Amino acid sequence: MNADVQTALRSTRSYDLARKALEVMEANHVWPTVRNFDLWVHYVAEKESPLAQEIDRLLAAGEPITETLGAELAAQFLPEARLNTDVLEAGDVLSKELQSVTTAIENAQRSSEEYGQELATASEKLEGEHAGPVKDVVQGLTAATKKAQVETAVLEGQLAETTAELGRLRESLDQVRRDAMTDGLTNLANRKAFDECLESTCEKADLAGGGMTLAIIDIDHFKGFNDAWGHQIGDQVLRYVASVIGRMGAAPRMAARYGGEEFAIIFPAESGRAALTVLEEIREEVSSRSLKRRSTNEDLGAITVSAGYAERLAGESTMSLVERADAALYASKHAGRNRTTAAQPMAAVTTAAA
Ligand code: GH3
Ligand code: MG
Ligand code: MG
Repeated sequence: MNADVQTALRSTRSYDLARKALEVMEANHVWPTVRNFDLWVHYVAEKESPLAQEIDRLLAAGEPITETLGAELAAQFLPEARLNTDVLEAGDVLSKELQSVTTAIENAQRSSEEYGQELATASEKLEGEHAGPVKDVVQGLTAATKKAQVETAVLEGQLAETTAELGRLRESLDQVRRDAMTDGLTNLANRKAFDECLESTCEKADLAGGGMTLAIIDIDHFKGFNDAWGHQIGDQVLRYVASVIGRMGAAPRMAARYGGEEFAIIFPAESGRAALTVLEEIREEVSSRSLKRRSTNEDLGAITVSAGYAERLAGESTMSLVERADAALYASKHAGRNRTTAAQPMAAVTTAAA
């Protein structure tokens, strides 16, 4: 599962991150828009993430993170939970908060400009031979200083409030994002998260010139199991199988509920051979466990799974990769279930079909 989905930010950490993000943004002359803030919070939160590494690379190369570049980075690296209205509303509140900070900063700047002007006038007057109106000058200085002090205090208060508010918003955004990416029954990543992860893993493999593997796993004869034992026990079995798959497909792999009783594992930078070992372990663990009905201790019989996997071919589309893994799963089913099959390379499939 995506690290962003998994990270449970506690509130103090959120404040800390919000502050750090603003500091780094300021140091790199990045304007505090909602999207930029989002991007830079991710940057400070996960220094090892591909996003942070890419930003570090750009900064090391002396490239300014412009609005356009920021937008590209966000589109490439941040999960797409933004269309949700909760997220959009939170974004609006954030915009207003940032606007109020900007206004406060502008006011403070104006005060200090006034202060500077007063000082300039004062020194002019004091340098002249007629130091008579010193009293006026001092009064002017005092008034301007007081005004600047008040503005600064207001600014500090607003910044503290905004930082706290940003932390709260950050947390609710993260929660919404996690919910939007998680399957409610199994707690694995859902189909949406899977689709995004597959897309980005393929892009990364292309950039790195490396490989990756995709596996699809399906519970055997699950309709019959539901018919025999009922949907609720069926749900418990789904959760059990998901827990095995989730454990074996933990990060940096990504395990997802692909559909009803189908699961998928993305193996970034792993060969088909490595995936096969993992899939066989899952298959053996599921089939060797004797499942019992908790309330009555009744034997529920054996549950088995079938799997298919495809090692990605250079430049292969996500659609083709899924199709090949699916075809391999189908071959496992066809050959009698409770087994794992490697996908045919594209050329062989095409030849067979022709
Ligand atoms: P095969 O070995 O060919 O995969 O046979 P199957 O019966 O598993 O496959 P089929 O596609 O015919 O049926 C899938 C079944 O999975 C049907 C449906 O009742 C069950 N299923 C799908 N989602 C859920 C769910 O969320 N909970 C429960 N309990 N069952 C589900
Ligand atoms: Mg099935
Ligand atoms: Mg199925």
